[in-house]
Amino acid sequence: MLNRNRLNHCCDLIENIPSHRMVAHQLCSSSLATDDPAKVTIIGAGPSGLATAAWLKTYGIPYIILERADCIASLWKNGMYDRLRMHTGKHYCELPFKSMPDSYPTYLKRDQFVDYLEEYARNFQIEPYFNETVVQASYNHHAKSWEVHTRRSEPNANQRQFDRDNTIKQYFSKWLVVATGENAEAVIADLPGLENFEGIVLHSSQYKNALPFKGKKVLVVGAGNSGMEIALDLSSTESITTSLAVRGPLHVLPREMFGSSTFSLIMKLCKIFPVRFVDRVLVAYSQLKFGDTLLYGLRRPKIGPLELKNAMGKTPVLDVGTVSMIKNGCIEVKPGVDCVSSSTVRFVDNSSETYDALVLATGYRSNVPSWLHDEYGLFTEQGLCKSCKDAWKGRNGLYAVGLSGKGLSVAMEDARRIADHILHAYTELAPTRIDKFI
Ligand SMILES: Cc1cc2nc3c(=O)[nH]c(=O)nc-3n(C[C@H](O)[C@H](O)[C@H](O)COP(=O)(O)OP(=O)(O)OC[C@H]3O[C@@H](n4cnc5c(N)ncnc54)[C@H](O)[C@@H]3O)c2cc1C
Repeated sequence: MLNRNRLNHCCDLIENIPSHRMVAHQLCSSSLATDDPAKVTIIGAGPSGLATAAWLKTYGIPYIILERADCIASLWKNGMYDRLRMHTGKHYCELPFKSMPDSYPTYLKRDQFVDYLEEYARNFQIEPYFNETVVQASYNHHAKSWEVHTRRSEPNANQRQFDRDNTIKQYFSKWLVVATGENAEAVIADLPGLENFEGIVLHSSQYKNALPFKGKKVLVVGAGNSGMEIALDLSSTESITTSLAVRGPLHVLPREMFGSSTFSLIMKLCKIFPVRFVDRVLVAYSQLKFGDTLLYGLRRPKIGPLELKNAMGKTPVLDVGTVSMIKNGCIEVKPGVDCVSSSTVRFVDNSSETYDALVLATGYRSNVPSWLHDEYGLFTEQGLCKSCKDAWKGRNGLYAVGLSGKGLSVAMEDARRIADHILHAYTELAPTRIDKFI
């Protein structure tokens, strides 16, 4: 850990070397944030980072948040389509210390969730350092602190594109909380010939609404929650011809069962019954509701939805109307894509079709492996928490929130666990620090 005198001395030395003037300035400015050796660095200002910050604030523990975008909750603000409503009931999306307004519906619209998060950040005076993309983080055993390097992101640009200038800032802290999300980067399917397609191609994170597709023939590739809903959005708009390419088997469940949200029903049933039993209930109900979906090209996997989620991380689709659009012929189901040419897509059953646009709903991934030196293996190769007990806690003050694949409600519990754990160490480090809030 650099103290202020040492840091100033460092800066004096560096100031004498012209090409390092900028770096010296940045080290000085970041020193404001590194004065307190017992500081926490949170990476990511989505719901998980905000919840952790609120807990730390309540405990009086100093922290900073580094966020690559120019706003909080950038995934919800910039990376989602207009018609999106949350699949999880509103109480499962609450952050600590703040209930959802009574006036909000059970399934929040995207904008309502964004408003809630913005007010949350204002209430807790959470002020992230925006436009800072973390490009490297490692534990310095000698200094016993985390060293984080950020590069300046291009302000107001698409959150996933950053400038190439090599401006680097450094931050030091005793604790590091990784809250960069499971959806940090768009995954573009590797479709042979895609580069030759002359129509519109975009990832689901860039899709906003159906307007640009009026009068066009569109293929949505991928039948996860995003793909199914985007297909529904397109097919609900006159003059758009919509197809959906479904590569493999998938579980489609109604968003509500027995008058309750499917998500909350699953949470309740899993507390009492074994997963296999819950799976049987879910599949039986869905079959009653939808009939045999194989007739429409949607094959169910052999193992149940929760077992599949636990084994492969594959989330079941919660249907908000797509299945009935498929049944009434407004969405045509196609098999997986084999290859693409200038205007034609060939499918694995050898059939071909021409399209004006392709929407690639082919998923997201974590970016943690690209910047974290994960010495003791808290994360999998895919940058998610290993599915074991205490997956939120690593060694040397490293924590992860929102990366366990278990949704927002578990992320909120992890945020509290992390803050409690840090509080414990913080209290031992400097007992007088917490006098002010006890
Ligand atoms: C289409 C869609 C619908 C969804 N619907 C639901 C739903 O209904 N219910 C539900 O519970 N979940 C839903 N999710 C999951 C969603 O990911 C979570 O609800 C929630 O956003 C997770 O919060 P988070 O803070 O962990 O991650 P995020 O919201 O992704 O926030 C992570 C933040 O970290 C920042 N970041 C990433 N990398 C870096 C870096 N290197 N340096 C600095 N900052 C970085 C990002 O810019 C982002 O602001 C949905 C996801 C998608 C894509």
